[in-house]
Amino acid sequence: MEIKWAKRIEELPPYLFAEIDRKKNELIEKGVDVIDLGVGDPDIPTPDHIIESLREAAGRPEHHRYPSYVGMLSFREAAAEWYSQRFGVSLDPAKEIVTLIGSKEGIAHAPLAFLDPGDIALVPDPGYPVYPVSTTFAGGVPHPMPLLKENGFFPDLDAISAQVAERAVMMFLNYPNNPTTVLANEGFFSEVVDFARKNNILICHDAAYTEIAFYGKNPLSFLEIPGAMDVGIEFHSLSKTFSMTGWRLAFAAGNEKAIGGLGKIKTNIDSGAFQAVQVAGITALRNSSVGLEERKEVYRERLEIFCRGLEEAGISYTQPDATFYVWFEVPEGMTSSDFCARMLSEAGVVVTPGNGFGDCGEGYARVSVTFDTERIKQAAERIADFKP
Ligand SMILES: *Cc1c(COP(=O)(O)O)cnc(C)c1O
Repeated sequence: MEIKWAKRIEELPPYLFAEIDRKKNELIEKGVDVIDLGVGDPDIPTPDHIIESLREAAGRPEHHRYPSYVGMLSFREAAAEWYSQRFGVSLDPAKEIVTLIGSKEGIAHAPLAFLDPGDIALVPDPGYPVYPVSTTFAGGVPHPMPLLKENGFFPDLDAISAQVAERAVMMFLNYPNNPTTVLANEGFFSEVVDFARKNNILICHDAAYTEIAFYGKNPLSFLEIPGAMDVGIEFHSLSKTFSMTGWRLAFAAGNEKAIGGLGKIKTNIDSGAFQAVQVAGITALRNSSVGLEERKEVYRERLEIFCRGLEEAGISYTQPDATFYVWFEVPEGMTSSDFCARMLSEAGVVVTPGNGFGDCGEGYARVSVTFDTERIKQAAERIADFKP
């Protein structure tokens, strides 16, 4: 017999990085020193007090059994306390928070909870590819909202047609934004609340980078905005904040009915996060400032080093006030794919083509600075010498 794939995976967009990966490995085999600045995954280890907490909790037999589907109440309480201290937002840990196995898991499952076939989810373009893919998996239709430089990389809500708004039931947003690195302001978030109310659209704000900001910038939680709890939920992850990407721990917070819906999907699909990891997550959230400034300093220094390299090359970039990425414009007359292919073959540096994040990312490229500072310096020198 022949195994058939479902249309939902047959029709996935081609994996844009496959060709780059192939070329990268080819060059490495030839002995070329390739610097890969592709993936955003902290190289700074998880702080010791968190690891110690896992070690202790992992030895306890009560954590070896199935966890609760929606997460340990104690973890959700720690998340609520952290929200209250950090953002001044008060949340009921029993009803307004659900533990996730990484925020990617929650984001990927959310459309199953809220979309019926044919419903639209508004997604930022460029944006995290999980928003449109999970929408499609749920039978929904992703509708891109262009994030353009001339609009400060915010979507133009007035440009969304009445027909689209009518069919839309969800909107994904993400600030501080990956890949453009910009922060939201209160004015924009308030417009979003009004738009959501008027059109009955659930806002799903991905807040993975609220703790990674520089120069005194203090990113907002969407839930701080008056009325936001009526219209939205926010995904928060321990991954980037605490250098815990491999641990798979996050939570969603916000509107009770929406959190309940997401919880129903999870109850039927997964069996929750390992409790010892949740215990370590409590330790992380209760000591959230330990080492954070130091980690941010490392990213800030690396971002500045890389941006100086771009300046020397005459390449324009968005000043990164948050996240650990640089979003920059590829030189005139080149596509994102051309530029990235040439960066790899001529400079031995892997950069991510902007169109991998959506059509509006064309003309841009992204680097991540979650790599050794010396390597970032070398990459910056190679970029500075790059002649288009
Ligand atoms: C890294 C990232 C995530 C996923 O984080 P996990 O909690 O590790 O799954 C979600 N959204 C954006 C925009 C990210 O960059």
